[in-house]
Amino acid sequence: MRGLLIAGNWKMNTDLESARELAAAIAVGVGERPPAEGVDVAVCPPFVSLAGVVNAVDGTSILVGGQNMSDKPSGALTGEISAAMLVSAGCRLVILGHSERRQYFGETDESVNAKCRAAQDAGLQPIVCVGEHLDEREAGREEAVVASQLRGSLRELNPTGLTAPIVAYEPVWAIGTGHTATPEQAQTMHRFIRDRLTELWGEKSASETRILYGGSMKPDNAKELLARPDIDGGLIGGASLDASSFLSIVQSGTEVV
Ligand code: PEP
Repeated sequence: MRGLLIAGNWKMNTDLESARELAAAIAVGVGERPPAEGVDVAVCPPFVSLAGVVNAVDGTSILVGGQNMSDKPSGALTGEISAAMLVSAGCRLVILGHSERRQYFGETDESVNAKCRAAQDAGLQPIVCVGEHLDEREAGREEAVVASQLRGSLRELNPTGLTAPIVAYEPVWAIGTGHTATPEQAQTMHRFIRDRLTELWGEKSASETRILYGGSMKPDNAKELLARPDIDGGLIGGASLDASSFLSIVQSGTEVV
C-alpha cells in the first residue's frame, strides 16, 4: 500500500549542464524499464538546476524535490529560497533536516519543524531526515535520539494527504562513509520509528507513512534493504550521481515491491 520511493539527493554536486544530462539519462532509463507500480522515483538537484531538471524529466513520472528551504514565505532574507519558489520551479518534495544541515548549518528539530510546516502550507511533501551519530549508537542511545528528533521535527504536522511527511532514517555514521547499516539494524530502527509515528498520529497514518533508509545505499546492497517490511525506499546520495547506479537501485525496488 505504501509502495517505495527511491529519491536521489545530489547535494552540492553537478552544474546546470551535468544536472540536465544526469536527469535526462535517468528519464531515459525509467522510460526503457518503467518501475513497478508503487515505486516512485525522485531527484533532488541543487536549486540552480531545478528548472533545467524539471524540464529534462517532463513527461515522465519522475518527481523533483529541493534539498532545503526557508521557513519564511518571502522577504529580506538574502540567499534564502521559499517553499513557494520550489513549487513554482516544479518541485513536489523537499528534503528537510538532513544531517549535513543539522551538523554544518545549525539546524535544530525546532527549525526543521518550522520548515516542515511551511512546506506543507505551500503544498510540498517534506522528506524529514533523522538519524543518530556513531557515538550515540555506541552509547546505546540511538532510539532515544531518533525518538526525540521525531517528536521535535514532526510536531503538529498533518500526517495525511498529498503533503504527508516522509521520514528518512539516515544514521550519520553511514552517510557517505561506505558503512551501510545492516538490513537488520535498519529494519529495527524503521520499526521503532513506525511505532513512534503510531503514538503520534495513530495506526492508520503511521502505516501509510513512507520511511526511507539513507546511508551508503548502493546497487549491491539496495535490494536486501528495500526488501525489509518497514523500509519504504531509499534516500541516496553518492550512488544517485551516476544514472546507471541510481537506475539499478530503482530496479531493486521494482524487484521487491
Ligand atoms: C544522504 O546524504 O542522504 C546519503 C544517504 O548519502 P550517501 O548515500 O552518499 O551515504
